[in-house]
Amino acid sequence: MIEKLVLASNNAGKLKEFSALLAPLGVEVIPQGLLSVPECPEPHGTFLENALEKARHACRVTGLPALADDSGICVEALGGKPGVLSARYAGEPKSDARNNAQLIADLQGQGNRRAYYYCVLVLLRHADDPQPLVVDGAWYGEVVDSPSGNGGFGYDPHFWLPAHGCTVADLPAGVKNGISHRGQAMQALLAKLQAQLA
Ligand code: IMP
Repeated sequence: MIEKLVLASNNAGKLKEFSALLAPLGVEVIPQGLLSVPECPEPHGTFLENALEKARHACRVTGLPALADDSGICVEALGGKPGVLSARYAGEPKSDARNNAQLIADLQGQGNRRAYYYCVLVLLRHADDPQPLVVDGAWYGEVVDSPSGNGGFGYDPHFWLPAHGCTVADLPAGVKNGISHRGQAMQALLAKLQAQLA
């Protein structure tokens, strides 16, 4: 039974969402920044490998179980880009504003705006855990040129949800967490953990 786990992310937007999403677990969740875990390289071409790398890194440094996510936006007309490079789409240093500007520039004149957010979560009980718990979630929408809303983070002001008639940044945080790629993956994780305890 896990009583304490380290959250292998330094992204302020994600940390806020995770603390709300993990509350029902009743587990003490410590962001890796509070345990002096240095940023982990994300060299891989798949979300899964990057999440596994981040979780293992956090376990090694802290000796605690770790939960990591790797996520991003995949745009159909760009062949799935920015994908695993979403956080650094416009290069270093990471900047949501420059990433959004780059994405909109790359889509100029493009009629197909379909895209999805993807998130994979990996939970490791220890660094050598042979059986990582893996879940994922995908959330479909469209990229719009004009930003709207002050909520969320990253690409949210440009991610339009036809079913809601607004961008993700227009949604209240609780609504986003209930339906997002990360929310879907968290619900799957909670179900798997509960099944293990049953
Ligand atoms: P990671 O930290 O390497 O997983 O990078 C995730 C990046 O994907 C973030 O920096 C954002 O650019 C983007 N991203 C992931 N989830 C979201 C979301 O919920 N809203 C907006 N952007 C997101």
